[in-house]
Amino acid sequence: MTTTHTTKIPDIYRDPAFDMACEQFRLIANYLNIDDDDRDRLLLPKRAVLVSVPIHRDDGSTSVFTGYRVQHQLTMGPTKGGTRFSTSVTMGEIAALSIWMSWKCALAGLPYGGAKGGVNCNPRELSHRELENMSRRYMQEMIPFIGPRTDVMGPDMGTNEQVMAWFMDTYSTYVGHSVNEIVTGKPVYLGGSLGRRESTGRGVAFLIERALDYLKIKPAGCTAIVQGFGNVGSIAAANLAFKSGMKIVGLSDVSGAYYNAKGIDLALVEKHQNKKGDLEGFDAADRLDPEELLIQPCDILIPAAVDRVIHGGNAGKLRCRILAEAANGPTTPEADVILDQRWDEIFVIPDILCNAGGVIVSYFEWVQDLANFFWNETEVMDKLFRIMDAAFSAVIKRAKAEKIPHRRAALAIAVDRVLKAKQTRGLFP
Ligand code: NAD
Repeated sequence: MTTTHTTKIPDIYRDPAFDMACEQFRLIANYLNIDDDDRDRLLLPKRAVLVSVPIHRDDGSTSVFTGYRVQHQLTMGPTKGGTRFSTSVTMGEIAALSIWMSWKCALAGLPYGGAKGGVNCNPRELSHRELENMSRRYMQEMIPFIGPRTDVMGPDMGTNEQVMAWFMDTYSTYVGHSVNEIVTGKPVYLGGSLGRRESTGRGVAFLIERALDYLKIKPAGCTAIVQGFGNVGSIAAANLAFKSGMKIVGLSDVSGAYYNAKGIDLALVEKHQNKKGDLEGFDAADRLDPEELLIQPCDILIPAAVDRVIHGGNAGKLRCRILAEAANGPTTPEADVILDQRWDEIFVIPDILCNAGGVIVSYFEWVQDLANFFWNETEVMDKLFRIMDAAFSAVIKRAKAEKIPHRRAALAIAVDRVLKAKQTRGLFP
């Protein structure tokens, strides 16, 4: 349906990532013939909070950081979403990520809406004590807006189990007893779930295997390039290398990109990272321009860092068979137009499917915390892979039936579900 309707976007959301989320929504809303009346409330976040986060620095001075939390929709249950500590964080970026979280949860069939939060900061420049001060103060500022039945936080770029433990402790201190279920991604001994830390990367590797099987390609000997060697990227790479027998030929982090056609020894990478903190100075592979890394030949390309890295300028140059979108929003709508034309060359596993492992096991963690009954790792992984397998099959089925790209199929399933829930409930949520 073509429509003259345009959503009036509040200025606070102005950001390239938010524009991208809007454009993706516009395309899918047109495809699904969504009424003008339903479009704004499907797209615009329910709540957006901006807070000042003042902390005492180690040198005795005071710094004030800006923190955000956006709850996209509370129609199907509480909202769920990670917290990002990064210099890229803006209200618009966080809002875009909250929208993508809604579609991701709906595609996986989880009883959640999407949320996201973050603090604009460089966590690498903060001491341990400063990071603790900032994490605790951010959570303190968020207490009026969140809750285990309202909005459940989790980790994202720049945050980890320790930060989640500080969040949980700060919230629990306020309430007066331990509230494990206020965050996910905690250490296992504080009510975290077995398998949560590895879940996103393992889910990415599982779907790559699933896609290879679908394409009738044997995994052993396939080559992979990973952009962003953090939690998600490093675990996906380790699973592909050690479990599936693939060769990791390229990897990068914020400090630089490295390539070795003969394969990169991940044990050496881990040793280097443990010693130096990042990949800077890694000498068992050639250093190359980070942009060039993405267009090196490989079977599997895994963007696992930031959004909008595959764009109109490089989508035509990609030389991979599978594009596994581990990051949120790595591919722009302009790149999608090109990738849609290359559908028989490049098999796209769209982000809301590819990296859903994290939120699925977060859901398991929340359920285990609420029930105070914990599962073993095999139970967690079996349940995870079953949900991911079903979501993958549903996307492929719809894409085939309607002859549409995988991203459109994934978004169609997800947006349809949220739309039905909103129409059935009414205007309140
Ligand atoms: P992380 O902080 O553990 O790692 C991020 C990595 O990306 C780091 O190695 C960093 O150096 C690198 N990086 C940052 N900017 C880069 C750039 N411009 N080029 C190359 N590398 C760069 O974060 P993470 O948890 O692994 O998250 C990575 C991506 O996966 C993000 O897009 C995040 O939103 C998404 N994601 C994470 C989870 C999760 O469970 N952690 C779940 C779903 C999606």
